[in-house]
Amino acid sequence: MDRARLIHAMADVVGPTYVISDPAELKVYEADGLTIFKATPDVVALPKSAVEVADVVRLCARERVPFVPRGAGTGLSGGALAVEGGVVIGLNRMNRVLEVDYANQRAVIEPGAINIWLTNQVSPDGYYYAPDPASQTACSVGGNVAENSGGPHCLKYGVTTNHVLALEIVLATGETIEIGSWTPDPPGYDLTGVFVGSEGTFGIVTKIVVRLLKRPEAVKTMLLVFETIADASATVSGIIGRGIIPAAIEMMDNLTIQAVEKGVHAGYPTDAGSVLLVELDGPRAEVEALAESVIAVGREHRMREVRVARDDAERTLLWKGRKAAFAAMGQISSAYYVQDGVIPRTQLLKILGEIDALSRHYGLRVANVFHAGDGNLHPLILYDDRVGGEVQKAEAMGAEIMQRCIAVGGSITGEHGVGFEKRDFMPLMYTPADLEAMAKVKRVWNPDGLLNPGKIFPTSKSCVEVSAAGKPGDIGYKPHRIELEGKAQRF
Ligand SMILES: Cc1cc2nc3c(=O)[nH]c(=O)nc-3n(C[C@H](O)[C@H](O)[C@H](O)COP(=O)(O)OP(=O)(O)OC[C@H]3O[C@@H](n4cnc5c(N)ncnc54)[C@H](O)[C@@H]3O)c2cc1C
Repeated sequence: MDRARLIHAMADVVGPTYVISDPAELKVYEADGLTIFKATPDVVALPKSAVEVADVVRLCARERVPFVPRGAGTGLSGGALAVEGGVVIGLNRMNRVLEVDYANQRAVIEPGAINIWLTNQVSPDGYYYAPDPASQTACSVGGNVAENSGGPHCLKYGVTTNHVLALEIVLATGETIEIGSWTPDPPGYDLTGVFVGSEGTFGIVTKIVVRLLKRPEAVKTMLLVFETIADASATVSGIIGRGIIPAAIEMMDNLTIQAVEKGVHAGYPTDAGSVLLVELDGPRAEVEALAESVIAVGREHRMREVRVARDDAERTLLWKGRKAAFAAMGQISSAYYVQDGVIPRTQLLKILGEIDALSRHYGLRVANVFHAGDGNLHPLILYDDRVGGEVQKAEAMGAEIMQRCIAVGGSITGEHGVGFEKRDFMPLMYTPADLEAMAKVKRVWNPDGLLNPGKIFPTSKSCVEVSAAGKPGDIGYKPHRIELEGKAQRF
């Protein structure tokens, strides 16, 4: 089917107003939050209902056109990019909270609804939705399901998969199914568990049943201030080592603090080497006792100062700094490349030291802001996108950071997904047999490979071994050359 006929056929399904084909308007859909890669779809369709999603999918399947679901486009691994062209299916118009059921602590929500909307709606009644990506004011719950998103409070409460009870899904054939259950442990295979985190390659989510939590009796938010990252890292291990699981422990280094203070004035001390944002919640008496223990651990590791939020306004301000940290990088750099490695917590100091060495080697600054409690690093590699070669340097450095994470027993992604960006790193973690086992599952859900192609799996063309310079762990060691194929281009 040629493009003109495809556009016409899409308009018959969703209405001409909700088909985007103008080249200038398509630019909105050519990248996600990563922005290093771009790929322009041939057309964007914006369905309003599961029935329309199914009709769009059936049309694509019949005409053998690739199709890619997209929520808010805040993803950080190129997951929503139409790397082989075709149709982007934007879920933004399906954005209602359909039902709230406090008696059963559940809500039913459409995929395009923004994460924070649910909490905003239920919080006057003392409830909230726990998974809270730092992007929660912008990202969609459908995108969260696809990426199995985490967030600062997922240390204690678990990531998205722990809060999704059931899903309505349009399969790659256009058929609609419902998986999961409102009641615990339904019989049969746990398809909800399989689906959550499948990065838009197993089907399109059109309805989500999520768990709601009751607000805890008390919340205490503290900023622990340190001269060095070493002391902050030791404090993180010390807190968890005592068996304390705070609701959140977020770490920020000095460069991040500088950016945050220029951007949102959260009141962080700009001369600190590192700060920990620690939040405790639960019954009041327990929170008070745990806070004393956390402060004691901090003191054991030369904590310079502790600031305890006295009210909601102060608490919000402390969190505003953390949640706006990525965006605040614009204050100190024209561009940044965010990485999402995971390491065992005990390796925090070693890896941060290695990142520092890589930063000096490549001549690129790195700001560290991350979920320290679960070892999920987010080094932000700052570069100047107006200087030729800098983006490639940032990418090479990012690849080396991933190497280091794997070398200490970690992983190439904690929450942002593999997507397009990291597919060539997969063989660093998995054997061909491991990958084939995953590919078999994908073929069951996505037999023709038309649904979100080019993601997660390395391709024979894209992943080429080259002779290694040095050995793993050396600065400059490059096990893989990454070649882009299809329509996607570097920024
Ligand atoms: C500043 C910033 C901070 C962030 N902080 C965090 C964080 O703390 N934790 C975290 O986990 N992530 C974080 N992210 C990454 C991102 O926000 C999450 O991955 C989020 O879940 C993506 O949602 P989205 O709606 O933007 O999805 P998109 O970017 O539109 O899509 C992401 C993937 O989901 C698929 N998809 C989208 N909707 C559907 C659907 N209805 N059905 C099937 N597949 C679908 C797409 O095909 C794609 O593969 C951050 C991003 C930014 C920019």
